[in-house]
Amino acid sequence: MTEHDIKAIKSLLLAPKHIVIVPHKNPDGDAMGSTLGLYHFLTKNNHKATVIAPNDYPDFLKWLPGHEHVIIHESDKINAEALIEQADIIFTLDFNAFHRSGQMEQHLENSKALKIMIDHHQQPDGYATYMYSDVTMSSTCEMVYHFINKLDAGEDIDTNIATCLYAGILTDTGSFRFPSSTSTTHIVAADLIDKGADHSEIYNAIYDTNSFERLQLLGVALKNLKILPEYRTAYITLTQEELNAANFRKGDTEGFVNYGLSIKDIVFAAIFIEHKQEGIIKISLRSKGDFSVNEFSRENFGGGGHTNAAGGKSDLGLNETVEKFISILPRYKHNLNL
Ligand code: 5GP
Ligand code: MN
Repeated sequence: MTEHDIKAIKSLLLAPKHIVIVPHKNPDGDAMGSTLGLYHFLTKNNHKATVIAPNDYPDFLKWLPGHEHVIIHESDKINAEALIEQADIIFTLDFNAFHRSGQMEQHLENSKALKIMIDHHQQPDGYATYMYSDVTMSSTCEMVYHFINKLDAGEDIDTNIATCLYAGILTDTGSFRFPSSTSTTHIVAADLIDKGADHSEIYNAIYDTNSFERLQLLGVALKNLKILPEYRTAYITLTQEELNAANFRKGDTEGFVNYGLSIKDIVFAAIFIEHKQEGIIKISLRSKGDFSVNEFSRENFGGGGHTNAAGGKSDLGLNETVEKFISILPRYKHNLNL
């Protein structure tokens, strides 16, 4: 994002606008924190802003300030599509290819609104008029913080904005442990605390609200964990029956994949989750060091993301998907056995 872009956006935002802010499908903490943080900033500056999420998001985020105003496209199509149609500006946050917005893809594509992308994923598509893309960033929430400051509006960051942005930085950095959290990330987090984010309460609201069933499901996942020492790889499977037995709710499996990576010498971890209704296996991939799960997913499972965290999917059955996964590992042995 150039100085020229910033100037243009600044003058664009001088007069009140109809603005739609979109996170990716299956929004996570960074997606909801960044969209809601930006929502509060724009609303405060007299714009008519709406966050439209492609589908529902986990309960552990349903306390974020402003969450009650979020519109879910999947369950409120008429309203959502009218707002997209009327929008002067559409911000797309925490994703960089229209297809990541699921069923909103066509509507975003057809919209004549000016598009602004703020995102830290690799290989962005070129749809945006103004593109703030930086793959070195810890999170889109950190980028929204920088974006507001680039607009010389840092003083506008109040408790609500700070809380939303801190929540997304916390979740996307794995509580500040991933290599993507830099000294700047910590300085940003400190400033957000100074501006009203209660770090302890935010952690508690996100991580210490487990249901008994979720912990039971974690027990099942850990029992199903397998390791392939030759490839320094660990993987977990969860069948639809196992999810049903634990009364699965959206978000319950968030973070499970990381347990594989916590094993000594393991550098690549995967989780395969059966979604019978959609007829797909959802895949989450995590790595340590140089092994790129973004590339691994793009090459084999139609997904992508970051070097150390990516998602993907498979149309095969659960067992077949795992077989495919195991069968392609030899091709990556060289990269995994560093
Ligand atoms: P998760 O495994 O938590 O679903 O996703 C890990 C990371 O990869 C997140 O940053 C997520 O936004 C991204 N991601 C997940 N699925 C996809 C995908 O299909 N394509 C791309 N480009 N990124 C994805
Ligand atoms: Mn993110």
